[in-house]
Amino acid sequence: MKTRSIRFRLTAWYAGLLTTVVLALAAVLFLHLQSYLEGALAETQTRRAHQIADTLVAKVRAADEANIGGEIASLYAPEKGDRFIRITRPDGGVIYRSGPPNSQAFDPAAVPPAAPEPPWEFSRKQAVAGGAALLISSVRAPSASGGTYLIEVGTSAAPVDAMFRHLLVVLGLGLPLVVALAAAGGYALVRRALRPVDEIAGKAEQITQHNLGDRLPVPGTGDELERLSTALNHMIIRLDDAFQNSKRFVADASHELRTPLTVLSGELESLAQDWELSAETRERLGSLLEEVGRLVKIVERLFALSRLDAGEAQSESVRFDLAELAASTADQMALLAEDRRIVVTCNAATPVAVEGDHARLKQVVVNLLDNAIKYTPEGGAVQIRVKSAGSRAVLEVIDTGIGIAGDQLVHIFDRFYRADKTRSRNPDGAGLGLAIVKSICHAHQGQIEVESAVGKGSCFRVLLPLADEHSLPSATKPDSAS
Ligand code: ADP
Repeated sequence: MKTRSIRFRLTAWYAGLLTTVVLALAAVLFLHLQSYLEGALAETQTRRAHQIADTLVAKVRAADEANIGGEIASLYAPEKGDRFIRITRPDGGVIYRSGPPNSQAFDPAAVPPAAPEPPWEFSRKQAVAGGAALLISSVRAPSASGGTYLIEVGTSAAPVDAMFRHLLVVLGLGLPLVVALAAAGGYALVRRALRPVDEIAGKAEQITQHNLGDRLPVPGTGDELERLSTALNHMIIRLDDAFQNSKRFVADASHELRTPLTVLSGELESLAQDWELSAETRERLGSLLEEVGRLVKIVERLFALSRLDAGEAQSESVRFDLAELAASTADQMALLAEDRRIVVTCNAATPVAVEGDHARLKQVVVNLLDNAIKYTPEGGAVQIRVKSAGSRAVLEVIDTGIGIAGDQLVHIFDRFYRADKTRSRNPDGAGLGLAIVKSICHAHQGQIEVESAVGKGSCFRVLLPLADEHSLPSATKPDSAS
């Protein structure tokens, strides 16, 4: 259990508060009940002591002190009622003391005498050696003989003590049970109250740049939770707007740059062919032309990416043979590889039918082969393989090139990411080729994986869903490179 979670803290606070309140209430109840019961008992016994004082002691003379015992026994029968009665003369001499009670709860002979010069009326709880404590009420009463007698009436405190012990046991067992039940109930309530937070968090986790149109659930609770999800939804709307604006900006910018760059490239080309210019100027124009060519390529790729972002990756959906597409593209690019003495082989004998945008998927093959050739040193080998595995078509482009370091593998599909920062090996790359490949694969419900070892080579693997057997075969597609 996470002790810092709101759920735990609220439940702990709730259980702690409940325990304190119940304990305080139990203590108040306990003390109040004890003083009430003992007070009521003392009152009854004081009344009885007054009765004895008025009816018997007030009339007693020294001569008939001996009779008083008989009268008390016949009138009050203290032994039967588990009661203690003692009458003491002013000089401390006991003129009557009740006998042992029937219950044997205490020994009347062991009850210590009251303190000398006691008040006229008072009650005490008296511990008695070898028995239960006694609750004794004492009254001082003048007698006919002129002396003041002390009349003590008591009863065992055992029944009251037993009742409190019982109450303690009930509280001791009941309190943890009540607190445990309340804590469990509180925990369940807090869990339920926080469920919308879980739902909001779950949905928020799923929102990426591709589904910024989705919204978080808004619980109609009218509280901070509703405000929070509404505020987060507003934030997503603002993010969506900003994202769309930046996409539009890239699309517009790349679109606007294409024409002037094409014009610039054409003008530079015709200028470079002007033989009246010095060789040095023509050489400089040539390198300018190379840079403009690179710029054109970057702008073209940016424009392609912005169209993919806008959902134009699958403008057509036709069924075609991926193996044939791989073989024909490998053939076309073999010339490029030959220049660098790289052997391109194709292993795609069995037809593998997929469905999608033929031109876009060709772009995937072209970009992967182009990279494999670019990043493989002279004399190396590049292989393209197509097969089907389960319900998926698998296209692999394997090279014996420079490879990619493990920490860079996660970034190579990011826009403008280039593992080889020096650009010495690849002056015309811009880090957009693989981003385009990834976008096209995702748009075709496919994925791209890569395995690579530095100095040994790389294997790029494209996985696409196989075409539905019942979909109609397409007409032959015209080939068009990216
Ligand atoms: P670029 O235009 O720079 O080739 P890409 O998006 O096609 O951009 O590739 C991104 C980076 O991934 C490249 O700069 C390169 O470092 C690395 N890369 C791609 N393909 C390979 C490969 N077959 N072998 C080695 N590195 C590669």
